[in-house]
Amino acid sequence: MLKGKTALVTGSTSGIGLGIAKALAQQGANIVLNGFGDHTGPEAEIAALGAKVAYHGADMSKPVEIEAMVKFAQDTFGRVDILVNNAGIQHVARVENFPVERWDAVIAINLSSAFHASRAVLPAMQQANWGRIINVASVHGLVGSAEKSAYVAAKHGIVGLTKVTALENATTGVTCNAICPGWVLTPLVQKQVDAKAASLGLSNQKATELLLGEKEPSMQFTTPEELGELAVFFCSAAGNNIRGVAWNMDGGWTAQ
Ligand code: NAD
Repeated sequence: MLKGKTALVTGSTSGIGLGIAKALAQQGANIVLNGFGDHTGPEAEIAALGAKVAYHGADMSKPVEIEAMVKFAQDTFGRVDILVNNAGIQHVARVENFPVERWDAVIAINLSSAFHASRAVLPAMQQANWGRIINVASVHGLVGSAEKSAYVAAKHGIVGLTKVTALENATTGVTCNAICPGWVLTPLVQKQVDAKAASLGLSNQKATELLLGEKEPSMQFTTPEELGELAVFFCSAAGNNIRGVAWNMDGGWTAQ
């Protein structure tokens, strides 16, 4: 379905980003990976699916590096048809204790990076009259949780950015939508499970049950594969007129 298209997925060396990159690769898209840590393993996983793959190590807190990454993707594959703004970090602390440097980092990586990448890819998408921008927000783009001020502010912000980007391109073939996952068991969430286990003296399994039980009625994690399928749906012809939605996949979290 996506043969000949190119997808740039930020923060795709792990977790949800890698899951989405693999789902798009399975549909035949060329993939540009980004993120920290080992990238040769993820590159091999994408290549094994028969897709062309390249990697750029831009730090998503740095606008100049984001611009260089988009140029690299365009130079490598001709253009960027699909942008998945996914890179993200978490920091947990009450507002009065929140380190200023962590606030700035969360806002830069989880929110401003999506603005910088979107503004860089949009002109070519508009010229081609086809494009998909998929912003990985969170249920925290729709509701709050204590001790996550920067994350919740960034995710509400990205839902707003999604709506405006969708509206500005509403008469074109370029769509912009957000995905709002509940809990997904990735390194980002495993750290929160580990912190809960350590602070309450619980086993990993008990801490996991507690984490899910507090918020997610299904008592199940959403998987990167399921989120990948939702991204594929947004890229399909059925997604031509889906514009500016914040689509939760959250086991009932925000239905409560
Ligand atoms: P993860 O830690 O597994 O992956 C994060 C990715 O972002 C990694 O590839 C990492 O290298 C990259 N990254 C981090 N800082 C970066 C930077 N400065 N520059 C470039 N890349 C950087 O986390 P994940 O759970 O897969 O999270 C991915 C996205 O999904 C995030 O935006 C997160 O907020 C969102 N999300 C996660 C969950 C969850 O439960 N895991 C729920 C809702 C939303």
